[in-house]
Amino acid sequence: MVQTQITPGASGVMSGKFSKEQLAWLDKAKSFAAAVPLSEVMASDKDNTFRRDLFVKACQEGFGALPFGPEYKTGLKDHARTGGDYVSFALINQEFARKVNPIMSSLGVHVLCQEPIYKFGNAEQKAKYLPPSATGEFLGAFGLTEPNAGSDTAAIETTARLVGDEYILNGTKTFITSGASADFYIVMARLLENKEDKKSDGEANPHKAASPAARSGQITAFVVERKFEGFEIGQKFDMLGMRGYSTCEIVMNDCKVPKANLLGAHGEGRKVALGSLAKGRVTIAAQCCGWAQGAFEAATNLLQRYYRDGAINSDANGHARTLGEMAVSIESARVLTFQAARLIDANEASITVAAMAKTVASDTAMKVATDAISLLGLEGLKPDLLIERIFRDAKAGQIYEGTNQIQRMLIARDLLKS
Ligand SMILES: Cc1cc2nc3c(=O)[nH]c(=O)nc-3n(C[C@H](O)[C@H](O)[C@H](O)COP(=O)(O)OP(=O)(O)OC[C@H]3O[C@@H](n4cnc5c(N)ncnc54)[C@H](O)[C@@H]3O)c2cc1C
Repeated sequence: MVQTQITPGASGVMSGKFSKEQLAWLDKAKSFAAAVPLSEVMASDKDNTFRRDLFVKACQEGFGALPFGPEYKTGLKDHARTGGDYVSFALINQEFARKVNPIMSSLGVHVLCQEPIYKFGNAEQKAKYLPPSATGEFLGAFGLTEPNAGSDTAAIETTARLVGDEYILNGTKTFITSGASADFYIVMARLLENKEDKKSDGEANPHKAASPAARSGQITAFVVERKFEGFEIGQKFDMLGMRGYSTCEIVMNDCKVPKANLLGAHGEGRKVALGSLAKGRVTIAAQCCGWAQGAFEAATNLLQRYYRDGAINSDANGHARTLGEMAVSIESARVLTFQAARLIDANEASITVAAMAKTVASDTAMKVATDAISLLGLEGLKPDLLIERIFRDAKAGQIYEGTNQIQRMLIARDLLKS
């Protein structure tokens, strides 16, 4: 692979060695992000609305299925069909976050949903869900978290029971990114054994909530379509950060899921979920690096103008020190993030390195956004600089796909084990 050296910081977005192909994806992402007016970026946040049109446009450019090969991208034009890698996907996520692109998070989750279909899906499932996902006709969402099961994913209460040719799903998933706009959902549910159910209830009852017997059932993954009978969109969330991504509850009330939509084998749900989340955390780490860079650049640009205009002439050393610290943290987070992405591309994906990257990068984004506001004072709170938005989004970055506290525990557990 031809490597191209990028002068550290020269692009303002990254440092390190990247191939021509990876840089081509980055260039594409820069053009795409630059074409979205600031007014639209701010409106999606203010109105909390998802830009499906922009999502489809991004898919048509190849971003919606970037880490996957051309095989299932038959609906895309040649320029968008080429498969990229996770480093390229990290680069485009970093760029989209830097400009706070209104579809960034949905795009990340969309790839997170295709991942298990590539890995665990059968030929029919691949043929049905992957081509329309590549073009943006289908949007995917990931349903793991529940009102009583966040960090502790083993506590999920959504149940599935095989009745004839269908699984009957009951339960609620919460905080689902793209939830109100998606067409299909990767859903984790606890598989009820009919014989266990008879033991505890006397008869098979597809309506019942999770009993102690059900809680011992094996977690299993399904592809659930929005149009399936018994599927509903629940409460929509008007959140502090990560607005504009249709985040909501999804409710399955005797939802009829054809047998053909079982993903992987019975009891493989955790494997399906964890494999995808390990990659998803690298995507989030890249987004966090982009947020940090965006806040850093906005603060630096304004301070440079202040100095030029003579508006501030004191505390230049204090500013320089904070800016220096920001630059060091951002670069450190980036190095770890691209290390994690390169491991994925080398087929050596590491859950621990992904957790480290997500933790460091989201903490960095939070700190850099906080410090940028402190440096600028009131100016830093104005929405058009995007720093206050990054500040709000970065807080969510420390929580989603596993809180940073939990990531630290997982890292420690892994190290103690070895
Ligand atoms: C913007 C956003 C988008 C999201 N999108 C999705 C999505 O698309 N799909 C999806 O399935 N989920 C999604 N989530 C949910 C997310 O993954 C959960 O919020 C996350 O896993 C944490 O769960 P919780 O919020 O229930 O926190 P809890 O698990 O209730 O944790 C609360 C606090 O307790 C701490 N804690 C919990 N357990 C322990 C422990 N054993 N030891 C020490 N501390 C502990 C946590 O670190 C945290 O500080 C999203 C969340 C957000 C904020």
